[in-house]
Amino acid sequence: MFYKLLTDTLKLIQSTKKKKDGSVSWFLVDDEGHEYKVAYESSISGTITWRCNNSEFPNCPGKVVTKGHSRPITVKKLHEHNASIKTKVKELYANIRIMSANNPDTQPRKIILECTKGLSEEIVAHLPTYSSTRQVCSRARINPYEDFEIPSDFSFILPEQFKNLENGEKFLFFDEISGEDRILIFTTEKNLSLLTEYRNLLCDGTFGSFAF
Ligand SMILES: [Zn+2]
Repeated sequence: MFYKLLTDTLKLIQSTKKKKDGSVSWFLVDDEGHEYKVAYESSISGTITWRCNNSEFPNCPGKVVTKGHSRPITVKKLHEHNASIKTKVKELYANIRIMSANNPDTQPRKIILECTKGLSEEIVAHLPTYSSTRQVCSRARINPYEDFEIPSDFSFILPEQFKNLENGEKFLFFDEISGEDRILIFTTEKNLSLLTEYRNLLCDGTFGSFAF
């Protein structure tokens, strides 16, 4: 998916660090595999001047220019070195991060397999360990529940977000303590009216099992 884009748009790697104003910053990778960071961005013409970002050659004059985030890439000054394999590895990590963030339920193993498929042996030899690659996957995941406290007993207070749907519709219909138990019933008006339309109801459920 990522490589298909290469033919018509710029190959950009999203930086893991954000700019001071909180916006996303990008690295550009040209067709030879050279990596650049933004040197100057003209808000009037939309022209971006990119400077070589190879840390082993900090004084490399390599410079290209693009119009916004689109082709063509116009070479202004040539590099004093060859493209680095590190850029390829960085690209791979960016792909893993994007895929993990977009597919939070997919196992890291599958994502790593998918992203490393078809890579040259040279790149594979430069990859960090499998476990650190896995970490990249899990860090990229956004857990929508991470700010909520996991209840330790039945007296927990249900956060307001769980009582209604995103459209404001009521979702929690029943919440009562009965003896040692607490029963919570979640449904919608629509689901209840659907139920009333039928004479026979089949049920299934998990009883006596809960996750702490
Ligand atoms: Zn360079």
